[in-house]
Parts: sequence; C-alpha cells; structure tokens
Amino acid sequence: MAPQIASIQSFFQPETPSAQKTQKPAPQHHRPSDTGDGFSSSEIEAALHPALHKWQPRTTYNETDIGDLVPGPGCVALMGRIVNFHHIATPSKMPKAAQGCLKLTVKDDTGACSVKLWYAKVDYNLRLGLLVSIWTTHVSNAESSSLTVQDASLVTSIFPERDNSCYFLAQEQSDEGVMCKTPLGYRDGKQLDGLMTLKSFIEGGHELADGKILVCVKSIGGRKKFVTKKGQEAEKVDVNVFDDTADAKLTLWGPHCSSPAYWKTSYTVLLITRPGLYGDGRPLLSLTNNTHVDVDPCMTDAYWLRGHAQRLTKREHVNQPFPEGVFDVEEAAESELRIVFTLADIDEFVRAAPAERYVGYLSLTIVELNIYSLYQRNMLLCTECCGVPIFANAVTTKCKQCEKDLVLRINPRLVGLLIDETGAITCGKLVWSDDAWEQLLGRTAEDLAGSNLTLLKYLENRLLFLKLAVMFGWSEDVGKLCILRVTIV
Ligand SMILES: [Zn+2]
Repeated sequence: MAPQIASIQSFFQPETPSAQKTQKPAPQHHRPSDTGDGFSSSEIEAALHPALHKWQPRTTYNETDIGDLVPGPGCVALMGRIVNFHHIATPSKMPKAAQGCLKLTVKDDTGACSVKLWYAKVDYNLRLGLLVSIWTTHVSNAESSSLTVQDASLVTSIFPERDNSCYFLAQEQSDEGVMCKTPLGYRDGKQLDGLMTLKSFIEGGHELADGKILVCVKSIGGRKKFVTKKGQEAEKVDVNVFDDTADAKLTLWGPHCSSPAYWKTSYTVLLITRPGLYGDGRPLLSLTNNTHVDVDPCMTDAYWLRGHAQRLTKREHVNQPFPEGVFDVEEAAESELRIVFTLADIDEFVRAAPAERYVGYLSLTIVELNIYSLYQRNMLLCTECCGVPIFANAVTTKCKQCEKDLVLRINPRLVGLLIDETGAITCGKLVWSDDAWEQLLGRTAEDLAGSNLTLLKYLENRLLFLKLAVMFGWSEDVGKLCILRVTIV
C-alpha cells in the first residue's frame, strides 16, 4: 500500500478551524476573528481558494483521442475521465513555485494517459469519474520506472497557473454522463478481458496481473479523520461494495475521500481494474497507484449488476416507500363492486397472473403487535439512507452519512402478524400507506412518536386480536401487498 499523504484540501486550510470556515457567521454572533483586518469572509475565501483564471487559447489545439497521442511537442486538447489520481506535495516558500502535483490517470474510450497537474493556490477538487479537458503543448513517454505505465504509457505535465499555453477544465456542467465511459478493450456483447466475479478475485484472481471486478456500491461510511502513528493527518472512507457472488469493503484514502459523495447506493457501479486486496477474514479492497476506477461504465454487465442491486433493495429496504399513484384509492373506495378476498385467494391469483394489478378487500385479525417492544428499542419509525437503515422514536432525523434531513415512517414491523381463516401474512410482505396507519392507530405518526409508555401499552392492548377490514392493492412493480385503507370492525 502506498504511504499516506495529506489531502489536497489540508494544504489550503486557513488557520481558523474548519468548522468556522464553513459556517457562515450569523450577524448577531459577532466573532472576534471577523474583526480586525477589514476583509469579508468571501474575500478571504477567494484569496485562499482562487478559481483558475478564465482561459482563451492563443493557438489551435488539435482535439485528439488519447489512444492517438504521440510523444513529442504539439498543441493537443484531450478529454477524458479521471480513473485514478494521487497527490504529491512539494511545499515551497518561493512565491511562484508549485506547492504540489496532482498525478492523474485520465481515460477516454480509446486509451489512458498520465497528467501531472502542478498547482500553487488553486484547489482542483478532483474526484474519480470526473470528466476533464486538458490543453497541453507536449506529451512524453512515461518514465519506465513509473508505476502508472500500465495502460498509460504517455504523460503530460501542466501548470496552468503559471503557464499560459496549457489549461485544465473540470467539465462539471457539460457532463451528460455518457462520454468516455466505455471501458478500455470493451466490445459490445463480449466479456471484458480479465473481468471476474468478486468471489473469484478474492479467492485467487487478484494474483492475475490485469484482474478486473465490477461491483455495486452497497453503503457509504462517514469520512473519518485521524492522526497516524507518524503524526500525519489522514482521512479515509469505507465503502461497502458487492456483486452477485460476494461482498467486500473498499477503503478510500486522502483525496479520494470526496468521490463517494457523488455515488448512489444500490446504483453506482464501479469497474475496478487491478484493485489492491489485503486483510484476512473480511476482504478489504484498496486503490493502488496502478488501479483504474471506471465509475458507472457503459457496458452490459454493469447494467445487469445495477438492475440486480435495485431488485435486492426492493426486497431488503427496511421500510419500502408506499407507491404513490399506483392505486386509485378514491375510485376503489367509491366503487360499488367490493370483492372480498381471502389470503389463500390472493396467493393463488398472484401465482397465476402476477402482472395483474388489482384492488380488493380482506378481513384480517391482528395476532402480533410490537408497539411496546419497538418503542423500547427506539425503533417505532424507520427509513433508509445511504444504504443504512435508520430507526428512531421520532418522525425526523439526520442521516449520519450524508447529513440529509430525513422523514421517518412507521416501522412496518409494528404489526407483526395478520391472519384470516385461510392463512397468515407477516409484516415483511406488507407496505402500509400513511392513511392506513392513521386509521389503524387512531393517530398520526407524529402523535405516535410523541406518545408516552402508558398510552402505547394501552394502544397495544386495545388493537391486539381486533378484526380489520382492509382495502389492499397488488402490483407486480411493488412486489408486496399494499395496505391502502383500514377500518376497525
Ligand atoms: Zn444519507
């Protein structure tokens, strides 16, 4: 594993603590650090993190595919995605000297090359998968000792802050998510060379020189900052990944830590070429200098894996959202035709014609309730974010990973088991609407969360063994029985 290096951001850290930097000061809180030098916080920010100057090329740059690059002088413009990068600090007190170099591996659909991006003050905010454009006047062969030679035998070195003949642009706005996403060597309908399942990779495939794995992001951990034994500041993020054969933990270090913020759980697929593997027991993946990461590559296997991940989440979501707009509850309620089913009927119908969508009535008895026990475990309400289930006895909370404000819904496990004369149905096979919960409990989710123990005990005693008339809906897309309305009979 490569020695850990300080993050790029840490270089530009102003002397005030970072919490103060990001929080815009409220006018009534007059902080002593704001007084004195007469500069506003935005002016200080602009001086510390200048944007790269606007650039107008003075000559013609030939737009070139990376695969067509030839070593030597010549004005070329390249476009590609960052598949790896690392940071080399070269701190200097000279006012015009570079403070460091970002060594990127940039890939388009034809090849990959290395780019040494020198910087003095500009914070480039790089991440894996970012689409970038590079204008340069010289390309050379990579030093043969360099680790990045594999797949990227050419290198160009640019210092846009000092050299007006080259430029670097992150294509944040113009990225429509399709350019430069075909894996190198991929041809439609053909298996990519060296691609193996995660299980095969862990069980020996990693010894192959050019092993590739295709994994989907399962969950993303929080960014952890700590000080190493050598006294250096370090940062890491753990990302759980999986395919249909195995699970693994991918640890990202330093500058790579900002990348997962752009990934979606159960959606983002990573094609990792030559990942590092270490750890006994649970397999741990890492990125070495020689690794390439294609984020959401355009290839059939990636689409299949994303579909597979989405089907899994549908089954595993701790509180599957109620499907809005699938069933016309009003119309069904007004209809004179009321078909009463038994659980056995539904079982039979769903097996015979799963694609059929229908709404009907059931007469069910509650035989298991978990109000009291869920309350005690602080699990009355729940939802999921960043692939992590979140429980609370409250209707709102913040995700610890992405800090998004979340609205929690009543935990479907509140009603453990319902029966009729033909069978039983467990909470795992039901999706309740907010209305149905309110009709059953006689109170909103907010009221339930705010109830005291005595009231919850009373509620549990009152509802247990009650007979319910349930309006339900079935749709194959949901894959579970939806409870639309409940009447206590
Ligand atoms: Zn989240």
